[in-house]
Amino acid sequence: MFKKEEILDLLFPRRCIGCGFFVAHARWSVPRMWCDVCEQTRRVDLPLEGEREGAPIFSAQNFECAPVASAIHALKYGAYIDAADVCARWIAERCGPRMNAESFSSQCSEIILIPVPLHPTKFRVRGYNQAELVAEQVATHCQSVNQLDMHIGVRTDLLIRTRFSQAQAQSALEDRTTQIAGAFACRQGAEIKNKNALYVVVDDVFTTGSTLSACIIALRDAGAEQLCAVTIASASTSAVTYTTPI
Ligand SMILES: [Zn+2]
Repeated sequence: MFKKEEILDLLFPRRCIGCGFFVAHARWSVPRMWCDVCEQTRRVDLPLEGEREGAPIFSAQNFECAPVASAIHALKYGAYIDAADVCARWIAERCGPRMNAESFSSQCSEIILIPVPLHPTKFRVRGYNQAELVAEQVATHCQSVNQLDMHIGVRTDLLIRTRFSQAQAQSALEDRTTQIAGAFACRQGAEIKNKNALYVVVDDVFTTGSTLSACIIALRDAGAEQLCAVTIASASTSAVTYTTPI
């Protein structure tokens, strides 16, 4: 007699989002969409820290780690939106303590996550904004994993993307920086009401940092005083590894 999981394995085989290998249903859950090899590879990879416009940038993983890059690719281009939950858990576990420390040192009363917006044209094509999906899950996981003393929320009404730009992978570094500068603005009428909050820009990959710089500048122009950014992974050559204060 077959067990239910074995029948599911035959009818709807699950594949590791890191390498594509078969993973049995009995071992599958949303936070663990990995084979053991990919999970181990991801775990030994260290988190990375960078800086743009005077704001620290915390990345949960190294984009050089193949299973991590595959998960982000699946989330962005494969419509594999369950991957947002996995990526958000990495941010909560590894960057959450850093966000906590930042808010503590600047005596903030609240953490507000701001996902990097997609241009409306790109949003229509993709159907979702991966940074927004991740930010929503980060807020949930940060509450449970790090037991923050303060409220953590998400705001998608503040930042807008005013210009369409080519995908980062297709642009040379200088072109990218020129292209993206001023591509974000704060929506008219939307306000930075709480000056005592830590505003955290959320993006998928920290590459040149030009997107994060443009978002940080736009939020600062709108009155945000305490700023940092978190990303799922870093591909920046200037980033350095850090250890979370756990
Ligand atoms: Zn795998």
